[in-house]
Amino acid sequence: MPLIMIKCVRTGQVVATGMVIDRDAWIRLPADWEGDRFLCAACDTVHAWIKRDAFLDFTRERALRQ
Ligand SMILES: [Zn+2]
Repeated sequence: MPLIMIKCVRTGQVVATGMVIDRDAWIRLPADWEGDRFLCAACDTVHAWIKRDAFLDFTRERALRQ
């Protein structure tokens, strides 16, 4: 399954939230759906986020399958 990514609000880097989700399940979620807070790898801060801030990384998914 693809990783859920967000853009770090402090550094602007794209970071993985640590969550994965099926594409169809993701589409069904409302834009204000709250994901699990996570410790950001880029700035070492716990970020809260909602679906509107996030996107799926299918590139990462393909890499894991190889
Ligand atoms: Zn961050």
